[in-house]
Amino acid sequence: MSAIFNKELSTEELETLFQSDEKCLEFLAELKWSKGFICRKCGNTNHCPGKTPHSMRCTKCKKEESATTGTIFHNCKFPVSKAFYIAYNVCKGREELSTYEFARRLSLRQMTCWNFKTKIQHALQEMDSLNEVEKDSINKILTS
Ligand SMILES: [Zn+2]
Repeated sequence: MSAIFNKELSTEELETLFQSDEKCLEFLAELKWSKGFICRKCGNTNHCPGKTPHSMRCTKCKKEESATTGTIFHNCKFPVSKAFYIAYNVCKGREELSTYEFARRLSLRQMTCWNFKTKIQHALQEMDSLNEVEKDSINKILTS
């Protein structure tokens, strides 16, 4: 997951991402399929656009994959741009923000922020306890 933020983002880029779900999905899709699309179900590489923004659809088995599938943002119950904001601050933030602070800034319930922050921290801890090679595969799992 930290692979998401390996690329240094400018303040403007971040501002755009934090304000737009669509931009977040575009960002994830670009990252995910930077080496091209591979269907998670059948391995086919031919695709067409899916029904939802920035999703892909396999031309062979018709399986549709969203930009968040296989990332920490999958099945997130609140807007992906807000999740992005929390994830970025937990991974890269200079100061540690409390879940109350996240809740206030993003107009979310504190429990919601706490749950998501915990999820991110677990993912980060998991990566920390692995060696470099495994880390690489975890990055792949979380971002591809
Ligand atoms: Zn397929």
